[in-house]
Amino acid sequence: MTEKVNRHQERLPIVIAGGGPAGLASGIRLCQLGYQPLILDRPRKPAERKIGESLAPSAWAIIHKLGISHLVSEPSHLACPGHRSSWGHDGLISKDFLFDPYGHGWHLDRIQFEKDLRKEAQIAGCQFLDQSIQRLKHLDSGGWEISSEALQNPLQASFLIDATGRPSTVAHAAGARRMREDQLVAWYGFLKPSSKPSKDATGLIEARPEGWWYSALLPDGCMVAAFLTDPDLLPATGFQTSAEWEKWLDLTVYTKHQIRANGYRLIDNPQVAPAGSSILDSIHGPDWVGCGDAAASYDPLSSHGIATALASAMDSAQAFHDLSCGNPLTMERYGNRVNKSFELYKKLRTEFYGQENRWPDSPFWKRRNGH
Ligand SMILES: Cc1cc2nc3c(=O)[nH]c(=O)nc-3n(C[C@H](O)[C@H](O)[C@H](O)COP(=O)(O)OP(=O)(O)OC[C@H]3O[C@@H](n4cnc5c(N)ncnc54)[C@H](O)[C@@H]3O)c2cc1C
Repeated sequence: MTEKVNRHQERLPIVIAGGGPAGLASGIRLCQLGYQPLILDRPRKPAERKIGESLAPSAWAIIHKLGISHLVSEPSHLACPGHRSSWGHDGLISKDFLFDPYGHGWHLDRIQFEKDLRKEAQIAGCQFLDQSIQRLKHLDSGGWEISSEALQNPLQASFLIDATGRPSTVAHAAGARRMREDQLVAWYGFLKPSSKPSKDATGLIEARPEGWWYSALLPDGCMVAAFLTDPDLLPATGFQTSAEWEKWLDLTVYTKHQIRANGYRLIDNPQVAPAGSSILDSIHGPDWVGCGDAAASYDPLSSHGIATALASAMDSAQAFHDLSCGNPLTMERYGNRVNKSFELYKKLRTEFYGQENRWPDSPFWKRRNGH
């Protein structure tokens, strides 16, 4: 692909920056609309694990719309029958997906999901270049110059879709800024069973005075467990060590039981990843548009990050097409929809965090509940 791109020095009509769920979904949608976009994606590290996301049942609507429902099935992914939560009370409440109109949810093998989605995008007609974008320059004449190590000469593109996730590489190069609602981080680890893997695929959420825990079984029998808190509430030293993470896990009631009962042990040292809610101050601008986490990112509590990323990716691809067909208002309408969804989400987030009143003096809950 590198050779092909460098041989043809002409300007590409449309390039997608980032090949996560949003980049791949916008690529598939653009192919459906008659384009052949180039997707530039940072090369994956071997044996890289992703955080281990779940799809809520309602994600099926967008998965069907994109035509990729055949990608989400067993044995690659694990059916999720519901979740249990200790939130706002000391007990445990179960939410079964049995009566959900969309059926059960899924615990994804996220790497496999992306691999399959990428294959789908390739079949649809997307081209790929596995290189990080190192420099972006908006040209006075319009369009972009893209520099990457793999290219002898920079690439030129008339239009860029920013699907780089939370870094929002294109948006930042265009001068847009992220507006942050909070500083939430996930302190997470992957665990493997010492003997037989658990059979319980129910997700678990447990609120604690300093934040909340999420844990779930993964399709390969391993487990992911994450403590969601604010960076200043993490232990000042040693938050990269397994011992410190285990110490915090031991302060839980239900999460430690779910993990210890099946003899699960950390595979590697835990890691910290940003997990806060934020949105760009401009969702689009001259010759670019943002989608997925690059445009707006959501608290993992919502479990809607991937579905929202797929939906905004399809929507942004359609907006690009409409703009190319001479409708100048289309980008503004798309931006308004992203902003409106984020406002709605913020209300739901406030309501949900507001249900937890057991620790009125805890900085974590005070920051979210405003008292
Ligand atoms: C702790 C945590 C738990 C979560 N749990 C869930 C969950 O249970 N369910 C759910 O639906 N969502 C969950 N999410 C959210 C979900 O991970 C995101 O919403 C989703 O990954 C967004 O997809 P995306 O394609 O927009 O971004 P990403 O998945 O971040 O993809 C961005 C892509 O762009 C590439 N890229 C970045 N910079 C460059 C560059 N300079 N050049 C080239 N390529 C670049 C990256 O390598 C990557 O491939 C969770 C998030 C966190 C942090």
